[in-house]
Amino acid sequence: MADITVIGSNMIDLTAYVDRMPIEGETIEAPEFSMGFGGKGANQAIAAARLGSDVNFITMVGNDDFGKQQLANYESSGIRTDGIGIGHQASGVAPIFVDPTSDNRILIIKGANKELTPAVLDEKVDLIKNSKLIVLQQEIALETNYHAIDLGVKYGVPVLLNPAPANEDLNIDYVSKVAFFTPNETELATLTGMPTNNLDEIKLAADNLIQRGVGNLIITLGSKGALWVTEGHSEIVAGMKVKAVDTTGAGDSFIGSFSHYYAAGEDVPTALQHANQYAAMTVTKKGTQKSYPTKEELTDMLV
Ligand code: ATP
Repeated sequence: MADITVIGSNMIDLTAYVDRMPIEGETIEAPEFSMGFGGKGANQAIAAARLGSDVNFITMVGNDDFGKQQLANYESSGIRTDGIGIGHQASGVAPIFVDPTSDNRILIIKGANKELTPAVLDEKVDLIKNSKLIVLQQEIALETNYHAIDLGVKYGVPVLLNPAPANEDLNIDYVSKVAFFTPNETELATLTGMPTNNLDEIKLAADNLIQRGVGNLIITLGSKGALWVTEGHSEIVAGMKVKAVDTTGAGDSFIGSFSHYYAAGEDVPTALQHANQYAAMTVTKKGTQKSYPTKEELTDMLV
């Protein structure tokens, strides 16, 4: 029995560091390039696995070199790969341009991720029903997430839905069926149509979701940490003060580590405190998955 089943996307990030963005019709040379493993589902699975969770990852890769590299990456992080399917389309990729001011332009080509359908989940149902927590994001079809939530309800497995990237088509009826709903401030604004520019506004928008049946609402607040809201209770779990170098992937490291600590038996505020600590450590290093420490590395970083 695995601790956590992550159902979601995987991508290969193809990052070109440019002196300036090319204009229409122009070809320019970029001084630097880097390739990295990404995709919100993959990032969250990797964070939980590096902390020691037994993780199933249900995703689809292409029948190509990138797909093989993805599989090797999961195997080397100890993730179970029996939930990973090989699709007909190419592996998902994200070409990214970053300029010296950190301004970026990103394309997402989902490829095989689009083949992660509700029917695929039915084939993997034994993996899903024998886990302690199901973790979802929104880089796959909403219908697939809805089916995952229904399976969680059917088999009594709590579900965490991280509504990133924001999608205003998300059916709020499904949100009331999950144990944890975890938007950032921007996603909260998209979902409620309410402003979230300060803590008072965030609390009002949070209350709107609680009234619509959301159980545990966890709103990430960047360096300030996270706000945990339940019916009649709200509490800020403060972030850790660190010198941030690169916050890319901080949100995914927070969700993956929270899932790990919660599935390991911690209560919600303690798991949030530990997730703040883990995510803070990742922003002190460059890269996405490259910045996610293992349990041992985390211990060394915290002394
Ligand atoms: P992203 O989309 O950049 O991955 P996000 O908007 O989903 O991130 P954030 O709220 O920015 O999520 O960050 C998630 C968590 O990461 C925060 O709740 C906090 O624990 C940690 N974090 C982010 N930025 C910082 C920072 N500068 N210092 C300390 N902790 C941080």
